Amino acid sequence: MSMFRQSIRRFATAADSASPYGIRVGKVQGTVNGFTGAIGNTPLIRLNKISDETGCEIYGKAEFMNPGGSVKDRAALYVIKDAEERGLIQPGGTIVEGTAGNTGIGLAHVCRSKGYKCVIYMPNTQSQGKIDLLRLLGAEVYPVPAVAFENPENYNHQAKRHAERLENAVWTNQFDNTANRRAHIETTGPEMWAQTGGKIDAFTCSTGTGGTFAGITRYLKEVSDGRTEAWLADPPGSVLHSYIQSGGKLTERSGSSITEGIGQGRVTDNLKQEINLITSSFTIPDEETIHMVYRLLDEEGLYMGASSALNVAAAYQLAKNIGPGRTVATILCDGAYRYADRLFSKSWLRQKGLDKAIPSHLEKYAVL
Ligand code: PMP
Repeated sequence: MSMFRQSIRRFATAADSASPYGIRVGKVQGTVNGFTGAIGNTPLIRLNKISDETGCEIYGKAEFMNPGGSVKDRAALYVIKDAEERGLIQPGGTIVEGTAGNTGIGLAHVCRSKGYKCVIYMPNTQSQGKIDLLRLLGAEVYPVPAVAFENPENYNHQAKRHAERLENAVWTNQFDNTANRRAHIETTGPEMWAQTGGKIDAFTCSTGTGGTFAGITRYLKEVSDGRTEAWLADPPGSVLHSYIQSGGKLTERSGSSITEGIGQGRVTDNLKQEINLITSSFTIPDEETIHMVYRLLDEEGLYMGASSALNVAAAYQLAKNIGPGRTVATILCDGAYRYADRLFSKSWLRQKGLDKAIPSHLEKYAVL
């Protein structure tokens, strides 16, 4: 037998079992078709330190490993597939969306891979880095004044009107288009359940459009016969925690948070569909979120954005409430790469009054 064949055979044998260093060699199956084929099937990571500390099994779904870098790749694919299936867009058409970040990035990637044009409206308060990234992914970007949803000049309404002015164009409407939530009912939820062997006692995550939280909650509730608890984690300045705690009273938005991509001033259609399934909710202060950004890096080697850290802070709190011996899952939405100049800058954190949130032994990471 040639050396080459022998080494192939050795590899095949190794591929059938876990590698000695724990890399999932045997689990990788076949090839995938293009960018969209690489979406999903992300690992579920045991967060070792906080699991050991609480006596629970705490897992984070590694959505930052999607090919566009965030949980929103799944929703981007689903809203475009939905438009195609409903005959709303033909080859060469244009996808238009209002988005401050990851959805736009996911859409821009999927549009390139499918040959559609992509137009993005966003509040002009967003960083130049995000605008540049969307443009280099081939999107046409319109930064517009940041006004409330009720105002007709809000970025979402401008996106809708833009699509109406064009031939062969769709406003994907991520906030109220329930194809977004369906992505998580059909993919993220089933993956998480299978990965834990059907053992998730509680799930928690924050919401922007609500697609991720509502979709996963729906699936987990159904598959567990209602046993899995679903806790909504809210940043300061979002109305959902008080909406849930008050049994459905919507208050004015007040306060703000450093977390990007999450927090809501209203109950979107994606969330409304599953509002009765929610066990309860909590608010995670920015201090806890920042602390967890640094803990995840220091303890787990995970370089996570603020919404992921907020989710883990929520899972940690939940584990302490319901544990020990229970399994708690959450979402690691994206990495810290696009937010590094904020999250790891001492002067930025000081401006936000958050520099004291980092314990002195973790200050070494605030190097920017
Ligand atoms: N985290 C980040 C970083 C995001 O960009 C988003 C989407 N805006 C979310 C969390 C929330 O996801 P969803 O829209 O599914 O609620």
